[in-house]
Amino acid sequence: MNIAVLPGDGIGPEIVAQAMRVLQRLRDDGLKLEFEFADVGGTAYERHGHPLPPATLALAQGADAVLFGAVGDPRFDRLERALRPEQAILGLRKKLGLFANLRPAILYPELAQASSLKPEVVSGLDILIVRELTGDIYFGQPRGRRDAPDGAFAGQPEAFDTMRYSRPEIERIAHVAFQAARTRKAAGHAGRVTSVDKANVLETFQFWKDVVTEVHAQYPDIELEHMYVDNAAMQLVRAPKKFDVVVTGNMFGDILSDEAAMLTGSIGMLPSASLNEQGRGLYEPSHGSAPDIAGRGLANPLATILSAAMMLRYSLGQPEAAQRVEKAVRDVLRQGLRTADIAEPGQPSVGTEAMGDAVVAALG
Ligand code: NAD
Repeated sequence: MNIAVLPGDGIGPEIVAQAMRVLQRLRDDGLKLEFEFADVGGTAYERHGHPLPPATLALAQGADAVLFGAVGDPRFDRLERALRPEQAILGLRKKLGLFANLRPAILYPELAQASSLKPEVVSGLDILIVRELTGDIYFGQPRGRRDAPDGAFAGQPEAFDTMRYSRPEIERIAHVAFQAARTRKAAGHAGRVTSVDKANVLETFQFWKDVVTEVHAQYPDIELEHMYVDNAAMQLVRAPKKFDVVVTGNMFGDILSDEAAMLTGSIGMLPSASLNEQGRGLYEPSHGSAPDIAGRGLANPLATILSAAMMLRYSLGQPEAAQRVEKAVRDVLRQGLRTADIAEPGQPSVGTEAMGDAVVAALG
């Protein structure tokens, strides 16, 4: 199994180094993993003149999975948009056809105090948001500006975008959600998909609802419920533990996945996966390159280590190894180890490397 490792900028190299130690330990224990590193983001721009050099793209395209740190550095904020570090992640999504974004929101009971919600509402939360990533109003054509051709404001300047989804786009994201629910059910979750739409107002999302319902016929072991997006936003803060897998379009998913992430109150803990039709994927922490703490050994590596666990589960077909890593992370938290971002006021904290040491030791 070939893994392209792209550490990137800011804290990227520090946190990826710890995830690599975990993966190397699994390799020492017999897992057949091969790693190849490449530059991406601002680092790649500095060395090769482009945030996503052809060699990096080729490596990612040829790999079974990509482990990605983070990109972005204020030193490059004045560059023209096409050369900014963040373009690398957009380019990879596009070129690898990464249409499904999987973002778990997990709150370990030990960290319940970090949430802005009451501990009893969120403690033990473990849900998965599946967001469609390449369609919807973000990419629909036509879009632009013009003078309004009709209506009460005819002749006035206006802007417009187009919301659209095709049947194959909805089918493939629905399959990802139902299959994820099935995998999670085997690990003790409810086996339920909540499809979030706005079918009461938008034709695009009535179509979405119809197609998801059709695809569901192939998953009789999984329950399907439909929910309007406004209600879903409310339920996520009222009773988030009632959800299992949530599937939705690009724009609603953008908003709901950030809402769900914040339920846990700790950005340094949240992994993510972006998958294509072949099940290959890019795995990265949900946070950015954190330039404010880069190079100081303070970053929390757990989101990246948990992203590596998702990679083992979703692209490399190694669910047991994934569980082993996730259990090691849980054990370390139970032991009381905290990086500064998840420590309570007055609680002692450890650095990036010490947290990596502890996870490797907890692998047993
Ligand atoms: P950020 O996620 O990098 O940081 C937000 C805050 O969270 C900062 O205070 C940071 O110190 C803290 N933080 C983030 N990750 C942490 C970790 N692992 N451990 C401890 N603390 C952590 O978001 P930002 O500051 O808005 O963006 C910084 C740069 O990252 C920008 O250039 C932005 O474009 C980029 N970015 C990249 C990605 C990506 O690579 N996919 C995603 C988001 C932002």
